[in-house]
Amino acid sequence: MKKKKLNLVSRIGIGMLTGVLLGMAAIYMDFGPFISDWVKPFGTIFIKMLKLIAVPLILISLIDGISNLTDIAKLSRIGGKTIGFYLATTLLAITIGLFLVNIVNPGAYLPPDKREELRAKFAPDAQLTRDKASDVKEGGPLKIMVDIVPDNLFGAMTNNAQMLQVIFFSFMFGIAMIMTPKEKVKPVKRFFRSSMEIILRMVGIIMKYSPFGVFALITGLIVDVAGDDPAGALDLFKALGVYGLTVVAGLAFMIFGFYPVLITMFTKIKYIDFFKGIFPAQLLAFSTSSSAATLPVTMERVEKNLGVSKEVASFVLPMGATVNMDGTSIHQSISAVFIAVAFGHDLGLADQLMIVLTVTLSSIGAAAVPGAGLIMLTIVLGAIGVEPEGLALIIALDRPLDMMRTIVNVTGDATVATLVASSEGELNYGIDNKLLEKESKF
Ligand code: ASP
Repeated sequence: MKKKKLNLVSRIGIGMLTGVLLGMAAIYMDFGPFISDWVKPFGTIFIKMLKLIAVPLILISLIDGISNLTDIAKLSRIGGKTIGFYLATTLLAITIGLFLVNIVNPGAYLPPDKREELRAKFAPDAQLTRDKASDVKEGGPLKIMVDIVPDNLFGAMTNNAQMLQVIFFSFMFGIAMIMTPKEKVKPVKRFFRSSMEIILRMVGIIMKYSPFGVFALITGLIVDVAGDDPAGALDLFKALGVYGLTVVAGLAFMIFGFYPVLITMFTKIKYIDFFKGIFPAQLLAFSTSSSAATLPVTMERVEKNLGVSKEVASFVLPMGATVNMDGTSIHQSISAVFIAVAFGHDLGLADQLMIVLTVTLSSIGAAAVPGAGLIMLTIVLGAIGVEPEGLALIIALDRPLDMMRTIVNVTGDATVATLVASSEGELNYGIDNKLLEKESKF
């Protein structure tokens, strides 16, 4: 009899649970040092792999994505509207994320001495970070802008904290590709297309390892956080629980409030019909955690059930799947502040503005595949001087949150496609849709 393989979500769940149990056992039975020496390093390897893939992933996926946008010139009006809507919804998502996380402040659920301890453990170079922070203050208001421009590509690529510089280069490269005659860039375009395939395969390999990585990370984290006091582990769970709920609250607001309200305000589609129309796409987003994998169903539903014209859907949706990630933006802004506070950093207004800028860029740069948002979070953390090791705090919760933020990502794309179509007079929602609904495959 053929054995049924467990899916990745269940395997990560099992890894997490075993990690918690082993971590707890280590605290109560006093074998913490064994865990630190023999289990935790596997978690560190997992984090290093995530960091390793970040630079090539951004470089290649951005160049590939931007250079495919040659249609913008042809459809410049629709293109302009689409980009405008995408940017506006992303900024709103970040604002909601920052608003929620500053009010709830899940990081504060860890007692102050634990935060200091975590900081000391994860940041042996705390002084360096502080120096960097004061550097920024002394550099004047435009220092952020100056820092985004690299003076050496390889210099930028060797430093994970300088990912904005890599993004800058990728943007310029992509735009220059669009401006160069098609024939001349063909081989380079193909090169980036196939490199992208390979990189996504690499992400897949890392994801295969993730259940074990999560297991090792969570065990090590519990031992580290608890120290000699088991109550410390409970504090961590409480903080994580509040963090998870804060993310879910932000995502729920977008799905049930923001998008359907926009739709009912600007089109004839009713609240409930909007959900009926895109529900299968949302379900698929939830189960695959990938906007790219969901794209065919999103397109089918948006065209057949919401009545968006083929022309608009086939331009707005593929672009949205790669650049418009409102769920990822909410998740990243909440996670960045949570980790910063948990590690004992004080975030000022300049840091929060930096989060707005970097989350916007990194959600654009994130590939539409499972876990991409988490990888890109290293950029945001790096930019505000927080140790990327902080990912260890939230990684175990990432998969369920990824499933939910992908629903928001996909719903956001569908909403913008519907609004653009409506503003162009290309939304044919009406009696016909009932008929078309019957023909829909999904
Ligand atoms: N999984 C998300 C998506 O495909 C990206 C992310 O990890 O945030 O939309």
